[in-house]
This record gives sequence, structure tokens and C-alpha cells, in this order.
Amino acid sequence: MLTDPEIHKIPPFGEVVLIDSVGDDLTVVNAARVSFGAKSDSLEDRDKGLIKFLMREKHASPFEHVVFQFYIKCPIFVAREWMRHRWASYNEFSMRYASPTELEFWTPQDADWRKQVGKPGAYTFEPIESALAKGVAEHDMKEVYEFALHRYNVMVSNGIAREIARAVLPVGMYTQFYFTVNARSLINFMSLRNDSAAQKEIQHFASKIEEIFAQKMPVTYTSFIEAGRSAV
Ligand SMILES: Cc1cc2nc3c(=O)[nH]c(=O)nc-3n(C[C@H](O)[C@H](O)[C@H](O)COP(=O)(O)OP(=O)(O)OC[C@H]3O[C@@H](n4cnc5c(N)ncnc54)[C@H](O)[C@@H]3O)c2cc1C
Repeated sequence: MLTDPEIHKIPPFGEVVLIDSVGDDLTVVNAARVSFGAKSDSLEDRDKGLIKFLMREKHASPFEHVVFQFYIKCPIFVAREWMRHRWASYNEFSMRYASPTELEFWTPQDADWRKQVGKPGAYTFEPIESALAKGVAEHDMKEVYEFALHRYNVMVSNGIAREIARAVLPVGMYTQFYFTVNARSLINFMSLRNDSAAQKEIQHFASKIEEIFAQKMPVTYTSFIEAGRSAV
């Protein structure tokens, strides 16, 4: 696992790390102004107005010239939702080729134990108040994880290929991947995944991504908020 100081922890074992980024608000402005053969050297008020205009009117291609590379460590069920975002590049740890130094499994934080109320398309989620119900569920989850991990290790030590043995590992297991994405697609990701309709577990990650985005592209971020957090 990375030990870079910029690691943002998402309990219990999740991580979001900004590895690199290319461009900022000024990059967006200059990508737009090249239409007129013009270029700005610093971000002036009229440039900030231009970014707001681009966002509001969904003239979105200038936002594609800013690129972020993240390292993400999250449960597999979160990664499955994440990788539905096709406008990005991904490379993920392979359980075919390598043995992880440690296998880590997700269990909800206390406040994240919840029940689902309603019908498909109209669910609400309410906290589980009963300490007993939470305790039993947590115990069961850990027991299943331990059993799956044990049988996985037995299979591998008996010579079964990792690509076969991994079939018994649950989607609560952590995976790690690189996520390289342009700012336009990241806006779409934040709009959809840092939203109350999204599963809370991916929201935790998307909210951290949003904090990083706000620091790197403050004018674009403010414009995104003012435009109602919609995709461009
Ligand atoms: C709350 C929530 C619930 C969800 N539930 C389900 C579910 O039950 N089942 C399920 O399968 N998925 C589900 N999804 C995933 C969802 O359908 C999208 O696949 C995912 O959010 C990625 O969004 P996207 O396509 O906009 O992003 P990207 O794949 O990054 O695409 C970005 C944009 O590019 C354009 N685009 C990309 N590919 C195409 C294409 N092939 N044709 C035309 N335009 C394209 C679209 O404008 C798209 O918005 C859910 C997502 C959310 C947020």
C-alpha cells in the first residue's frame, strides 16, 4: 500500500490518493479561448466569468483538458460501481498474478448499519437502533469473511491457481486501482456519486474526491455548485 503523506483515509481501510494532476482553472480558460486565438497568463475576473458560462451553458469540452490520476483502495462492491464510469482509465490489482500481502475486508462503521425501507426506486434508509441486531450482523459478516479467507488460503496452499481460488472471496474484500480521469468526467462522477441517491459507501469516496477537486480547480468547482451540481 502507498505511504504517501497525501493519503486520505476512508474507514475502515479505504484510501484516496491524488497521485498527479495536469492543469487547473486556467487550462480550461485557455482551451476555450483558443477558439479566438487568445491566451490568458493568469486567472482574471473575466476568465472566472468564462468558466461559469461554460459550466452553465454546458460548453464542456474545455474541461476535458485537465486530468487527475488517483490511487483508490476500496471494497470490490464500491469498485464495481466506480468502474461503470467509462470515461476514465483504470488499472487494478490482479488476484490472478499476485498474492496480496494482506486481505482486508469491509465492515460498516457504526453509523453505516442501516435498514432499507420502501420499494425499488423509492427506498429510504434508516439507522438500525438495535445493538443486538448490529452485533449479530457484524459477527456473521466477520465469520463469513474468515471462513472464505481460510478456504481460499487452503486452496492456494493445495496448489489451486489463484485465479480459481479467488472465486470464493466476497465483494466486501478490498481492491486497489489507478483511476485517471479528465475534469469533465470527474464532474459527472461527483454529480452522480456524491449524491444522496448513490450508495453511502461510494459517497464517502466521492466526497473526498470532491474536496480534492475543489482545491485544485476552485473556480470550476464553484461553478459546478452554482449550476446545481449537474454533469456537463
Ligand atoms: C444511484 C445510481 C444507481 C445506479 N443503478 C444502476 C443499476 O441498477 N444497474 C446498472 O447497471 N447501473 C446502475 N448505475 C450505473 C449508471 O447507469 C451509470 O452506468 C454510471 O453511473 C456511470 O455513469 P455515466 O454513464 O454517466 O458515466 P460514463 O460511463 O463515464 O459516461 C459519461 C457520459 O458519456 C456518455 N456515454 C458514455 N457511454 C455512452 C454510450 N455507450 N452511449 C451513449 N453515451 C454514452 C453519456 O453521456 C455519459 O453520461 C447506477 C448509478 C447511480 C448513480
